Amino acid sequence: MRKKKGGLSRESIFRLFLSLAALLLFLGGFFRHIQYSYILLFTAMAVFPYPRSRTGSILKSVLCVILLGLCWYADEKNLLPFYTDEDPITVSFIDVGQGDATLIEFPDGKVMLVDCGPLENADRTIQFLKEKNITVIDWLFLTHPHADHVGGVRRVTGEFTVRNICEPSFPPELISDNYYYGLIQKLADQHALNLQTAKEDSNICENANLYVKMVSPPETLQHDDLNQYSGIVLIEYGDIRFLITGDAGWPAEYAVLDTGKDLSATVLRAGHHGSYDSCAGPFLDAVDADYAVISVGAGNEFQLPNANLVRRLEEHGMRVYRTDLNGTITFTADMHRILSIQTEK
Ligand SMILES: [Zn+2]
Repeated sequence: MRKKKGGLSRESIFRLFLSLAALLLFLGGFFRHIQYSYILLFTAMAVFPYPRSRTGSILKSVLCVILLGLCWYADEKNLLPFYTDEDPITVSFIDVGQGDATLIEFPDGKVMLVDCGPLENADRTIQFLKEKNITVIDWLFLTHPHADHVGGVRRVTGEFTVRNICEPSFPPELISDNYYYGLIQKLADQHALNLQTAKEDSNICENANLYVKMVSPPETLQHDDLNQYSGIVLIEYGDIRFLITGDAGWPAEYAVLDTGKDLSATVLRAGHHGSYDSCAGPFLDAVDADYAVISVGAGNEFQLPNANLVRRLEEHGMRVYRTDLNGTITFTADMHRILSIQTEK
């Protein structure tokens, strides 16, 4: 072993440096989130035979680059377990055919259901919750009173204890003869549910590091289509954000963009089952999500999702999941990253 006079050898300094890097990464994992692969890389380098020749140095450098590439790949694809001491949030886009139902399981065990799908597939929503041993829905948020979103509301409120039921306020002329709007009011009375009207920017619920906010419809919105008044919900858990948009389309998207709100999200539930008139380019620019989910029925009569919309999502760098192709899609995340994406199909 070559030694510097009176000091540490170059090899010792090299190993000390790498061991320190591995240790710092490991300790860093307790505060920030470090993929195990990088710790493994530095540990591997620290215990690696020290190069004794020029060829050895080149070989080792090449090997390190390959290892670094593998670490990056493992990190990107979530191939290795990831250190986290935070309780995760789980968001499941339930396959309810042509409709919408999203289950959010908060880190503290509380449960929120955003829409409950059409009546004909209410069993799918109910069964999905029962398989998770859920008996209480802490918040039932209904984006707008259309059959494909709230058709199953009677079944769901009959099967589970619903602590709070929540919906946006709608222009009276759009709901005066809306069957489902009346039904929700009736069920709330019947089950003595706490029925709340959510306002723009109101916190539907919050606890440590977690906020669920209704970002739309903005008070400035004026439209004759009830879909545009869909409650758009933003769930924020640390750096991770889910944006669930009901059946909002371009008019609502531009109205909410005009408010200047931060709409950036990790996962976007694309509006209106992938219709052409949702997810306008500027809206997608603002959301800038990594993943998009389209809740749509297989072989639906509307021929959704629209191919242009899917392309638009992909062009914005979003990886697209669809309930018609993937079945129920479940995202699990801690406060810093998506830990896993599970699909039923
Ligand atoms: Zn719909």
